[in-house]
Amino acid sequence: MNTYVISRELLEQNIRQLKKQANGVPIWAVIKGDGYGLGALPLAELLADNGIERFCVTEVREAELLRENGFRDAQILMLRSVSDRETLHRLLDLGVILTVGSWETAQMIDALARERADIAEVHIKIDTGMGRYGFLPSEMEQVVALYRELKHLAIGGIYTHFNCAFADDRLTKQEFAEFQSVISQLRAAGLETGIVHCCNSSAFLKFPEMHCDGVRLGSAILGRMPFRTKLRPVGYLESEVEELHTVPKGHSTGYGAVWTAKRETRLAIVPVGWYHGFRVSCQPDMTRVRDCLRSAFSALKGILRRQRTYVEINGTRCPVVGAIGMLHCAVDVTEITCKTGDRVIVQMNPLHQKGVKVVYRK
Ligand SMILES: *Cc1c(COP(=O)(O)O)cnc(C)c1O
Repeated sequence: MNTYVISRELLEQNIRQLKKQANGVPIWAVIKGDGYGLGALPLAELLADNGIERFCVTEVREAELLRENGFRDAQILMLRSVSDRETLHRLLDLGVILTVGSWETAQMIDALARERADIAEVHIKIDTGMGRYGFLPSEMEQVVALYRELKHLAIGGIYTHFNCAFADDRLTKQEFAEFQSVISQLRAAGLETGIVHCCNSSAFLKFPEMHCDGVRLGSAILGRMPFRTKLRPVGYLESEVEELHTVPKGHSTGYGAVWTAKRETRLAIVPVGWYHGFRVSCQPDMTRVRDCLRSAFSALKGILRRQRTYVEINGTRCPVVGAIGMLHCAVDVTEITCKTGDRVIVQMNPLHQKGVKVVYRK
C-alpha cells in the first residue's frame, strides 16, 4: 500500500533547530492545507509535544479539529479575513483570533461581537505588497480608527505577509521598513499594537532582525525550503514493486512511448503516479516574460544535463523511465536485484500527496 511516511525524529530535529534560531521569539505554527499534507491534527499534536502551542489556520475546520481534540487553550489565529456571518459566529464560538483586513470586515466583526455582547480578539493585517488582505501603509487613518472607534474589537496584534521573501531580499527589506513605519506611527499615536509579526519561513531564516514578537512558520517545519538550510525534509512516499517485466530492445513503456529500451531492460512497475503527487509541482507563474524565459532556460538545462527522475529500490537509486502515469510508473532495474514486493522510496513534497495513507514513524 502507498504510504507517506513522516519521521517524527526529523520533524523534532527541525523544530529544535527553528526554536534555536527563534531565540525565544514565539513560533506560530501554520497548519493550513491539512498541515501542508502532514495532517493538521497529528502535526499540531507533535508540535505541542515539542512546546509549540500557537497555531495559524485558514479554515474553520482546522480550528474545530484542534478545539475538539484537547487544544482548549491554544491560541489559534485565522490567517485570512472572513466576511460570512455564520462562519464568524463559529470562529468566535471557538475562540479563534480573527484577521481584520479592511474597514468593512472590521465593522462587521465589531457589530457581530456587539450583538453577542462579546469582544472579538483580532489581529490587524497590513498589506506591504502581497495585495490580498490588509490595509495599505497609506491608510493609517483607518488603522488608527480601528483602535479608537471599534469598541468590540480587542486588537491583540498586527502583521504583514511578505510576497517575495523566498526570492527578493531587497524588496523584503523595503516591505519590512514600511511595516515598521506603520508600527511606529501607531506607537507615536499612543496606541498599544500588541504582538507584531511579519515573518514566514523564508523571512524567518534569512532575516533574524525581522522576528519581532512572533514568527509564522509552515514549510520550514517540513524542512522544504527553496534554498539551503540546516533543516531536513521530513517525509517520503513508500510504495512497493508490483510487477517485474523484461522488455526487448526497442520496446517502450508508458503513454506516448516517450522512452524506448536501448537494450533488453528489466522494468519494475510501481503503483505511484502523478495522482499521488509524484513529480507534481506548483506551476511556475508565467505572467511575466522573465518567468517564461526562466522556465524555458531551466527546461533547457534539464535537457542538456539529461535530468532524470529517480526512486530508491532496495537502497539503490534507479531511474524512472517513460512518462509517469496517473497511477503508475516504470523503473529501470536492469542493474539491480529486486523482486515483487520490494520497498520503493519516492521523494516528494507531502503538500502534493493524495490518495495515500499518512503515517508517523520514529
Ligand atoms: C502560509 C502562510 C505562512 C507560512 O508560510 P511558510 O512560507 O510556509 O512558512 C505565514 N503567514 C501567512 C499569512 C501565510 O498565509
